[in-house]
Amino acid sequence: MKILLVEDNDSLRQIVEEHMSRAGFVVDTVADGEDAIEATRRVDYDGMILDLGLPSLDGMKVLQRIRLDRDRALPVIIMTARDDVGDRIAGLNTGADDYVVKPFDILELEARLRAVLRRPGSRASEMIEIGNVLVDFGGNDVRIGGLSMDLARRELILLQELARIFPGVVAKDSLEDKLYTHDEFVTANAVEAVVSRLRKKLLAVNADIGISTVRGIGYRLLKGAERELD
Ligand code: CA
Repeated sequence: MKILLVEDNDSLRQIVEEHMSRAGFVVDTVADGEDAIEATRRVDYDGMILDLGLPSLDGMKVLQRIRLDRDRALPVIIMTARDDVGDRIAGLNTGADDYVVKPFDILELEARLRAVLRRPGSRASEMIEIGNVLVDFGGNDVRIGGLSMDLARRELILLQELARIFPGVVAKDSLEDKLYTHDEFVTANAVEAVVSRLRKKLLAVNADIGISTVRGIGYRLLKGAERELD
């Protein structure tokens, strides 16, 4: 899953980014409010961690603008200063899903993020079953006949994105957005390389699904007999 982290404090931003990346998220980071709004218009994030005290445009205004902008509810966790009970209440009233108070334990932030991502109506509450493959978004897991597949972070995200749209086609551009942060240099065949590794793993565990390349557009999942023909 891809999240946006908005924090102007460099060291805190780095700590949260590193932790969440290790925890399996693809993390875009920005340090101010205008950039945050710009980023949510460009990329379809699964969730957001938002500091309220930001230079120029503060976090509360960012939250207001995002809630006005988007039809789908983007899960948002706000980070607030210790003494600002008023901020926390205002944040929740403005549409934040949860909050942490600084200084917080990074594991608590991760747990709260996962909890809001799992809530009914959010994308991460879904489970999708295609043939013998179960894609569990909340558990961040893929199981074949009950056994978890051993997938690298980008392989898992790729499979989630394809499963979400199945049997539709996912554009290669939008996969690049989901698999890489905006700071990463993405080579022309980067997504293809992840697809290729995932294909091999699906074959190795006798999954009922395969991945088809739709030339010039992107990729789609194929199921069962259709897969044999591809
Ligand atoms: Ca701040």
